[in-house]
Amino acid sequence: MRHITIIGAGQAGLQLGLGLLSHGYSVRLVSDRDPEAIRNGSILSTQCMFGSSREIERAAGMNLWDSACPPVVGMHLRVAGPDGTAALAWSAPLERPGQSVDQRVKMPACMELFVSRGGELLVEKADIASLERYARQSELVVVAAGKGEVGALFPRDEAHSPFQKPQRTLAASCVHGYAAAQPFDGVTANMIPGVGEYFVMPGLTCSGPCHFMIMEAVPGGPLDCWGDVRDATEHVALLQRLLTQWLPWEGERARHMQPADAQATIRGRYTPVVRHPVAWLPSGTPMLGLADTVVLNDPITGQGANNAAKAAACYLEYILARGGQPFDAVWMQATFDAAWSDAQWATGWTNAMLQPPPPHVLEILGAAAELPAVARWFANGFDRPASLFPWIAEPIAAEHMLASHAVTV
Ligand SMILES: Cc1cc2nc3c(=O)[nH]c(=O)nc-3n(C[C@H](O)[C@H](O)[C@H](O)COP(=O)(O)OP(=O)(O)OC[C@H]3O[C@@H](n4cnc5c(N)ncnc54)[C@H](O)[C@@H]3O)c2cc1C
Repeated sequence: MRHITIIGAGQAGLQLGLGLLSHGYSVRLVSDRDPEAIRNGSILSTQCMFGSSREIERAAGMNLWDSACPPVVGMHLRVAGPDGTAALAWSAPLERPGQSVDQRVKMPACMELFVSRGGELLVEKADIASLERYARQSELVVVAAGKGEVGALFPRDEAHSPFQKPQRTLAASCVHGYAAAQPFDGVTANMIPGVGEYFVMPGLTCSGPCHFMIMEAVPGGPLDCWGDVRDATEHVALLQRLLTQWLPWEGERARHMQPADAQATIRGRYTPVVRHPVAWLPSGTPMLGLADTVVLNDPITGQGANNAAKAAACYLEYILARGGQPFDAVWMQATFDAAWSDAQWATGWTNAMLQPPPPHVLEILGAAAELPAVARWFANGFDRPASLFPWIAEPIAAEHMLASHAVTV
C-alpha cells in the first residue's frame, strides 16, 4: 500500500486525503490545528463553492450539508453610481446552485470523516525537520498548507505573479439577520469603481443559516479603514456604516445584522502569488505543492476554494495513474501543469478584476443588463472561468460576441 503525507487539512488537503483513502492508499494528514481549534477559531473564508466544485466534493464525500445549507441560486451584479443609486444592475441564475458552508463547520467534520475512514491525522505544525521525517516515511509529500509560511519553500514564479504587494484590504464576516436578496438569494457582487467591491451570499455557519460577506478595499482608499476594529461587534457596526454610505441598498438589507458569533469576522491582506510546484528539502527530496500553497489568488472572484477542489481532483487522478512508479520531480511538474491548465483561467480573470476594468469589460457588464444570455454566461463563468475567455480578455472578441449574442449557456 503506497503511503502519502499531506500537509494541511483545508479544502485541498482533506479532499485529496479522502480521495486517496477511498482508493486504498495509506494517508497521513498533518494539520497545525485540531478539529476543535478550527471549530472555535475565526472564520477563514467566505468559501462559496460553485457547481463543478460541489460535484467534486460529492465524489469525495464532502457534501454533508446539501440540505442544511441555503443554496446560492444565482448572481446579482450592482455597480454603484456617484449619487448613491446603482448605475447598473442585473441578475442571472446559476445553472447549478452554489453553496457556502463555513470552513469552521466543514473542515473539522471532514477531518473526523477522514479519521473514521482509516486516515492518520497528525496534529503538528510542519517544519523542515518534520517534512524531512515525512519524506523518509512516505513515498510522496504534498504540501497543501494554504497561506502557511511553509509555502515559502516553493519558489515564486515571476512570470505568473504580476503583483509585489496586496491589491485589496479584506474584511470578511458572517452574520445573522441580513435580508435575503430578491427575487432569489445568491452572490450579490457590488462594485464601487476605484474604491472597492462588496460581495454577500447566503451560507451555513456553526449557529445555522447566515450570510457571509467580504469587503474588498482598494488600499489607501476610503474603504480601507479597518485598522482600529477590535472585535466582531465593531466590525459589523463599521460594515453597516460603510454600506449605508456607499451601497445604500445593501445597507437596507443589513439593517438588522448581528455577528454570528464572536469569531465571525476576519481582516487582513495578502499578495497574490503563483509559485513553482516543486520544493526541494535539504536532503534532496522533492515535495509537491497544491492549491493556495502554489496558486494564491485574491478572493475577489471567489475562486480559491473552487481552484483547490479542482486541483485536488486533478492530483488524485495523476497519483492514481502513476500506479507503482516513483513520484519524481518530473511527474510533480506534469501533475501541477495539468491543474494549472485549468487554474490559469481563474488566475488570469482574478488578476484582471483587481485592475480598473477596460472599456470592453464595462461594455460586457453593461450589455448583460439588456441581454439575459450575456448575464447568464457571465454569472456561470464563476463556475467555469475558462468559459469567460477570450471575450473578457480581448476587446475584438467581446465586440463580436456582443454583436452576435452568440454566447451559448
Ligand atoms: C476572506 C476570504 C474569502 C474567500 N472567499 C472565497 C470564496 O467565496 N470562494 C472561494 O472559492 N474561495 C474563497 N477564498 C479562498 C479560499 O478560502 C482558499 O483559496 C481555500 O481555502 C484554499 O484551500 P487550501 O486547501 O489551499 O488551503 P486552506 O484551506 O487555507 O488550508 C490550509 C491548511 O493548512 C494548515 N497549515 C498551514 N501551515 C501548516 C503547517 N506548517 N503544518 C500543518 N498545517 C498547516 C492551515 O491551518 C489550514 O488548515 C476566500 C479567502 C479569503 C481569505
